[in-house]
Amino acid sequence: MSNKPHCVPDFYCCYLLRSIPKPNSFYIGSSPDPVRRLRQHNGAVRRGGAFRTKRTGTRPWKMVCFVYGFTSKIAALQFEHAWQHSYKTRFIETDDRLVTKKNTRNGIATKLGNLRLLLRHPYFDTMNLHIRFFDRLVWESWETNKFKIDFKVPACEVDEAVLTDESQLDDLNELNLERIRAFYDDHISYESSIFQRYQDELTYGEKHCMLCDKKIDYIHDEGTQMVTFCSEDECNFISCLSCLYKQFTKNSMEIIPKAGHCPSCHRLLEWSRLVKYSTTIRQNLVDK
Ligand SMILES: [Zn+2]
Ligand SMILES: [Zn+2]
Repeated sequence: MSNKPHCVPDFYCCYLLRSIPKPNSFYIGSSPDPVRRLRQHNGAVRRGGAFRTKRTGTRPWKMVCFVYGFTSKIAALQFEHAWQHSYKTRFIETDDRLVTKKNTRNGIATKLGNLRLLLRHPYFDTMNLHIRFFDRLVWESWETNKFKIDFKVPACEVDEAVLTDESQLDDLNELNLERIRAFYDDHISYESSIFQRYQDELTYGEKHCMLCDKKIDYIHDEGTQMVTFCSEDECNFISCLSCLYKQFTKNSMEIIPKAGHCPSCHRLLEWSRLVKYSTTIRQNLVDK
């Protein structure tokens, strides 16, 4: 798939690293390729790797969780910046701040509290961001929700790694890298299979919007019609993105819907993903 800067990224995550030898050292970063990035942080790739993660005694690092599903690279960078600067970011209300000064040494509970506050902000909330944990203790701390922040993150996932008792293991960072790699590879191939299906259906065969009946003609139409599909394999729903938007916002006050039911198979579809697929297809077909 394309790497053009204006494209919606296949994957972009904002991650939290924790030093294995010094568990009170953390690092927040973002990347379209967490596998490569983690290897850089741990010095396995000669070039790259943030300066801070080279500090003596902090390597190796473990990627304990990440947030993904950003609708653009910019959004991921904004999230990263806000999480790093949680003492002053505009995405956290002044009264809600857990940290008010720069350079305060704060532990995992505070890092996760700030994460929850950011996910609660309407700007990030509408993106349907997913959070995935790769560490048992960090996951337990998340569940404890020390600061009692009133927001339940809808898409919270726990990796198999969380089930492992790691206290006796000495190759923790290798195992962590394997878990990140397994997730990343699966995710990328799943996303590209959906994308490929959308693209094939549009390229071969005449389609009509199932809501307004307008003909969809990507090959000859130089207009700006955006098309959407249901991502379920057995469902053949297709429509203009704008028609589905109207449907999703019909009975709500939301400007950007979070999700809605497929008019055909009634499964719940995340709006941000639909937009992502539509935009990517539009770019790929029109840029040809
Ligand atoms: Zn339509
Ligand atoms: Zn459907």
